[in-house]
Amino acid sequence: MSSLSLTEHEIEALPAEELLRWSFGEFGERLCLSCSWQKQSSVLVHMVSELDLGIDIVELDTHLFFRESYETRERLVERYGLSLIRPDVITIAEQHRREGPNLWERDPDRCCHIRKVEPLIEALDPYEAWISGIRREQSPSRANARKVERSERYGVWKIQPLADWSEDDVWRYIVANDIPFNPLHDVGYRSIGCIPCTRPTRPDEEERAGRWAGSDKLECGIHLDTTQGVR
Ligand code: SF4
Repeated sequence: MSSLSLTEHEIEALPAEELLRWSFGEFGERLCLSCSWQKQSSVLVHMVSELDLGIDIVELDTHLFFRESYETRERLVERYGLSLIRPDVITIAEQHRREGPNLWERDPDRCCHIRKVEPLIEALDPYEAWISGIRREQSPSRANARKVERSERYGVWKIQPLADWSEDDVWRYIVANDIPFNPLHDVGYRSIGCIPCTRPTRPDEEERAGRWAGSDKLECGIHLDTTQGVR
């Protein structure tokens, strides 16, 4: 049984901005937004700023991002005056020492766990709700995403305002609002993560086909959870 003020049906009917406004009313400063500097980050940083929510923004930086992703971060920080929360993550050198070189080639699930999941668990500890940019259309593993889900792993509500947005919706919003975005999207990278695990994606492929290409891995693990919708 949910302790939220709206039913799942009512939440699913909310457009992205209204869902963000309702979430802030529900959780206040115990609501945060995570960013990894893909196009969804651009949309959500802009919306949160336009709504003047003043919530914390958590950067999920694995230290293996593309230069263009860091440059996108700097452009968004400058334009919106962001102050980022950066969870601790062990250095690449320390990971090599502990786990052996290039763990992403031998055991990407463990690498993602060390560099993404563990830092996020720590980062989300002070919060009751976490806004992420996942969309149902991105991959089969996200097709059933709801706009609000309970994450038992992190002990927070996940708020997913773009769950029902298409890739075209994202681009229309970015262009209409002239929002800085990751330039790798312009050269075929429809989904962008760490350098060793990302390649460009053809238009006829699924949007996230360039992530861990050649393996059956679809997710870094931060969105894999025993989630339940609002009922
Ligand atoms: S995406 Fe690749 S490099 Fe990045 S944390 Fe996961 S396995 Fe490691």
